[in-house]
Amino acid sequence: MPKLYLLLGGNLGDRPLYLSQAREQIAAQIGLIVQSSALYETAAWGKTDQPAFLNQVLEVQTTLSPEQVLQGINQIEQELGRIRQEHWGARVIDIDILFYDQLILQTQRLTIPHPQLHLRRFTLLPLNEIAPHLLHPVLNLQITQLLRDCPDKLPVHLYVSATD
Ligand code: AMP
Repeated sequence: MPKLYLLLGGNLGDRPLYLSQAREQIAAQIGLIVQSSALYETAAWGKTDQPAFLNQVLEVQTTLSPEQVLQGINQIEQELGRIRQEHWGARVIDIDILFYDQLILQTQRLTIPHPQLHLRRFTLLPLNEIAPHLLHPVLNLQITQLLRDCPDKLPVHLYVSATD
């Protein structure tokens, strides 16, 4: 069954609660969550006058296609009341597809692996916790190596341990 890695993030309201509601919806609509990283806190990226983000990475077994996964996560984002106000603006929940097995995909709507993942410590740190040896199929490097070489120096702190 295809193995999917998702990044969850949010910086509004009760952030751990929104992440936990997103995990519930992912389990119900996308597939079985087989691993979840701890939560990590990072100062807002790209825009500094807004609250800090909480991020988490999940490994999910899914029978859905990448397009169906995208539809599912868009629906979950909307259900949880995402406020689409501005690029890089505040939001209760954002869900990105990081990897879908070793698939390389570039369409108008979807780029897999996620094109920014190797540039962001807030993505690599939680990913490294649950999948250090996962190979990036385009860059041909493991997550540990991507983290070591990452140019982003924004501090990322452990927030609380994952409970499930
Ligand atoms: P944003 O809300 O700024 O994260 O952008 C969401 C949009 O980015 C989605 O509606 C997708 O069409 C597009 N997109 C492209 N690649 C990805 C990806 N790997 N994961 C999630 N969204 C993606």
